Amino acid sequence: MKPMIVSLSLALALATTLTLGASASPAEKPADQAATTAYDQEIARAAEALRPKLIEMRRDFHRHPELSNREERTSRVVAERLRALGLDEVKTGVAKHGIVALLKGGKPGPVVAVRADMDALPIQETIDVPYKSQNPGVKHACGHDVHMTVELGVAEILSRMREQIPGTIKFIFQPAEEGPPAGEEGGAELMIKEGALENPRPQAIFGLHVLPTIEVGKIGTNSGPAMASADRFVVTLRGKKVHGAYPHRGVDTVVVAAECVTALQTIRSRRIDTLDPLVISVGSIHGGNRFNIIADEVKLEGTVRTLNEDVRRRVQQLMRDTLAGVTSAYGASFDMEYEEGAAVTYNDPQLVEETLPTMRRVLGESNVLAPRPQMGAEDFSYFARVIPGFYYFLGVGNEAKGITAMWHTPEFDVDEESLVVGVKVMASVLLDYLQRHAEER
Ligand SMILES: [Zn+2]
Ligand SMILES: [Zn+2]
Repeated sequence: MKPMIVSLSLALALATTLTLGASASPAEKPADQAATTAYDQEIARAAEALRPKLIEMRRDFHRHPELSNREERTSRVVAERLRALGLDEVKTGVAKHGIVALLKGGKPGPVVAVRADMDALPIQETIDVPYKSQNPGVKHACGHDVHMTVELGVAEILSRMREQIPGTIKFIFQPAEEGPPAGEEGGAELMIKEGALENPRPQAIFGLHVLPTIEVGKIGTNSGPAMASADRFVVTLRGKKVHGAYPHRGVDTVVVAAECVTALQTIRSRRIDTLDPLVISVGSIHGGNRFNIIADEVKLEGTVRTLNEDVRRRVQQLMRDTLAGVTSAYGASFDMEYEEGAAVTYNDPQLVEETLPTMRRVLGESNVLAPRPQMGAEDFSYFARVIPGFYYFLGVGNEAKGITAMWHTPEFDVDEESLVVGVKVMASVLLDYLQRHAEER
């Protein structure tokens, strides 16, 4: 208890010093506090000055969206921009079109990583904006154009401050976050396999995702689970074909399928703790071939999402048990392919706790929100399984401007003011991380 009280009163004393602001003479401030404030101002000024360039970069990416594992132009543009900044190393061709770049600071210190994803989606853009997609049927509908722009902005600002930086920043640009095309490898998993987290190995990794339900100027953070796991299943039900007038002579997989869809929902409602978020969605059903023939095969395809890896493991078995019970009651059979996708995106609680003060200082206490975790998924989770990670949400919504559409919609857009906000926060987060951990060494 005692040390707790001491550190609390120390924190209060620091807070008082901060609140006093201009009235406190610089000599009264602890040296590191004064330095941090100076960095904040330098970063804020640099980010403001970058505004037109950030907007132009984002619009260029937005006009030229490319699908997962096809990010050729995107990769070329990112690499050119990184090289122009004079980074120490710009490695291309990692996990196909991915890039890993290093900025070595002028002072000794640890290694920290930041990751942005690069791919767009097969969605036709319907909004009429000057930066409308020029690639028919493809759109940056998940905001990865913003993620890349923020990371490039951070690289630009920090490269100018290089001499003052204690340690190394690893910039990771990752393709195929939305999932590689069938039969191809890709995304975070492949980047890790190809060594993105080695030579040098970062101590921690940060990333962000745009979120339209948060107003621009604000961010959202979660400690622990931030985004769900995302698995895919395909269930094939097998019965016996017969004339539609004589169902008792066959095994009707359409009726079995109907029962299976309902029974699977009871896993959510009756088998798993109601306080553990879980989604089991059947997204497609295909079966049968004529109105008067009993279908002997139906395929159900769907997704399972949870915020808890234990639940995730249990659900698979519960699904098999449920399907076995229902199908046997009808004399049908089944098989299930269960494909594990992204894991739960888990924010390291210690990393979150030590980073939040930076975010609050840069944006103001009231602009750092704690939204509920998302049932959407993120393959950033693969990085965060190897090293401690912190993935937060960047507000891009603006109701007054009508910018409210959610991810993966043809109307999706962002308030571009979020670019400056994103750069300020991420640059400060990385710099503070290095400073805190350089002092520990
Ligand atoms: Zn997406
Ligand atoms: Zn995304």
